Amino acid sequence: MGGMEHESQLLTPRRPTRQIHLGGVAIGGGAPVSVQSMTTTKTADVEGTLAQVYALAAAGADIVRCTCNEQAAAEGLAQIVPRSPVPIVADIHFHHEMALAALEAGVQGLRLNPGNLRKETEIKQVAAEARDRGVPIRIGVNAGSLHPDVFRRFGGATPEALVESARIELAYFEEVGFEDVKISVKASSVALMIAAYRLASDTFDHPLHLGVTEAGPPPSGLVKGAAGIATLLSEGIGDTIRFSLTADPVEEARAGRQLLEALGLRERKGLDLIACPSCGRAQVDVIAVAKAAQAALEDRHLPIQVAVMGCVVNGPGEARSADIGIAAGKQKGHLFIRGKIVRVVPESDMVDALVMEAEKLVAEGVEARLAAADTSAEAEAAADRQALLDEGGSDPNAASVRIERIRHAVEKEGSGPASGTGSGPASGPASDTDGNDASP
Ligand code: SF4
Repeated sequence: MGGMEHESQLLTPRRPTRQIHLGGVAIGGGAPVSVQSMTTTKTADVEGTLAQVYALAAAGADIVRCTCNEQAAAEGLAQIVPRSPVPIVADIHFHHEMALAALEAGVQGLRLNPGNLRKETEIKQVAAEARDRGVPIRIGVNAGSLHPDVFRRFGGATPEALVESARIELAYFEEVGFEDVKISVKASSVALMIAAYRLASDTFDHPLHLGVTEAGPPPSGLVKGAAGIATLLSEGIGDTIRFSLTADPVEEARAGRQLLEALGLRERKGLDLIACPSCGRAQVDVIAVAKAAQAALEDRHLPIQVAVMGCVVNGPGEARSADIGIAAGKQKGHLFIRGKIVRVVPESDMVDALVMEAEKLVAEGVEARLAAADTSAEAEAAADRQALLDEGGSDPNAASVRIERIRHAVEKEGSGPASGTGSGPASGPASDTDGNDASP
């Protein structure tokens, strides 16, 4: 509902990339942009890690990464992978043996950091094993752990250096006939990461995994992640994404999913609550009503856009693209579907009525619920709207009264442009008290 799937057509078309498969999840080649996150548990803790994997999947993760930093982690992966609801990627940094062990554990993907796993023979050995097992690898370049040779050659972690690091790794892979690859060139600097991914997109046709690394805790981490990822997605760059937050990874998965839904790149799975910012017209505490509506609706997983609007004068019209909404006025709640008033309820019942109607809307569809509208609702709403306009007029904040008072005060001083003459020594703010023109 809500027509979000059409919004993606307003973005730059997605750049074509090859397609790879992580278990049952396709990446690149026109597949839906996928969401990734990473567990924070010890991978050897099988039950704890699985609980987190399930929580991440429920929050919107399509793929989950677990560290494989020791033998016990690889052994844990052997038990986690068959019970996981989503494909599992093993994160490998320094030891190629851990990559081989993770492949043996049955993981659906590997992530290698070229800055940390540097020996050509070892890289090729892992790539050959992944090739034989049909398991894709992400070449995960990171500005903070760039290969020292590349860092020196480019005089720092520049966009060109990040892309070159990926190119060198890709060349090793290609020498053993392995191209089942996606690439990331992450940085904690949003500007650097954007430039690096643009260059990577021009250089490779492999799918790209987007992320701003070490973005920090929310809300600044969310802002940085969204700034980098959304900029690139809006340019058609990127096939899978991860927010890196210093927070419960469930927040990463949720943010990833919400970002894709907001851009219209994934179908809405959960609630999208919009609310007006409130103003002098508001007939209700919009923040409190929005919070109550969110609390009542969010666990119901209704794939709709719901609007909470502070007044009936502008609310239903401003939120007419929402699937359903409520606007307050004259101690009543005006319930609307796609901008049409379907019911008027007492203000104290507005959240309950909204929830009930939202559930019916999802079950029965828009047409059926519009057909079931209370026939007197539109007329009652129109009367309330008119009464409020009569009371508050077009100036509910009484700004015109204030402006009038300001004019009077300025005129009394005899120095304001509001005096209307615009001439003479005492007519403008640029004149000094002696009547001399102080303007240059
Ligand atoms: S819907 Fe009404 S209260 Fe909310 S911002 Fe618009 S005019 Fe103000």
